[in-house]
Amino acid sequence: MTTSKAHEMSTGRQTHPVSAGPVVQLPTTFGHFVAQAWTDLATGAEHLAVSSPLPPVAGRPPLVRLHSECLTGDVFGSYRCDCGEQLAYALELINEFGGTLLYLRGQEGRGIGLANKMKAYALQEAGFDTVEANEQLGLPVDARCYKAAAQILADMGLHEIRLLSNNPDKQDRLARAGVRVVEMVPTEVPSREQNIRYLQTKKDRMDHRLVLDMQPTAPVAGPRGFEHEQD
Ligand SMILES: [Zn+2]
Repeated sequence: MTTSKAHEMSTGRQTHPVSAGPVVQLPTTFGHFVAQAWTDLATGAEHLAVSSPLPPVAGRPPLVRLHSECLTGDVFGSYRCDCGEQLAYALELINEFGGTLLYLRGQEGRGIGLANKMKAYALQEAGFDTVEANEQLGLPVDARCYKAAAQILADMGLHEIRLLSNNPDKQDRLARAGVRVVEMVPTEVPSREQNIRYLQTKKDRMDHRLVLDMQPTAPVAGPRGFEHEQD
């Protein structure tokens, strides 16, 4: 019996079909990682697990970031959101303290897709906030599903994690999918003039744990630019 099968039986959780590829070396600007592609066999989405090759520091549960794909933020460094900076910050922490970043593709714009995200941006430029814009388009405010992510974490043996996130909804959804979050580790990065309204909406309307008003708008920070305490 596989570990995930045993875990499934002990938790009563239903499995989600995923398949794993080989583990390969991934040297990056943030450090040396190992990477493994995972395919969601229900949707065809291909996700990537990027992990520290070393065990977590001090035997603590590993840091895990479920990072939803954001082309504009992650690739182009858009300041309309904080995704790119959160991605860089999470990779820094995982490199230093051990853990895994699961890059979830097909979750663009909280699951509405790239083209719809651009439509939502146009509505935001007309004065709607990020929640209202999705509603105007007749789309869910958050269409993301974490079943595949939870299955991948289970198959990787990550049953107890320290979740790198400001979003308590992720913690709840993972718990329902059988992954125990022992701690939420904040990933707040300094807000900017261009994304402060977006972040304020996430704080006010989506219950994200953000401080915002206590953080100054910071200049561009490089990969080593953010200093955060872990405990
Ligand atoms: Zn983004």
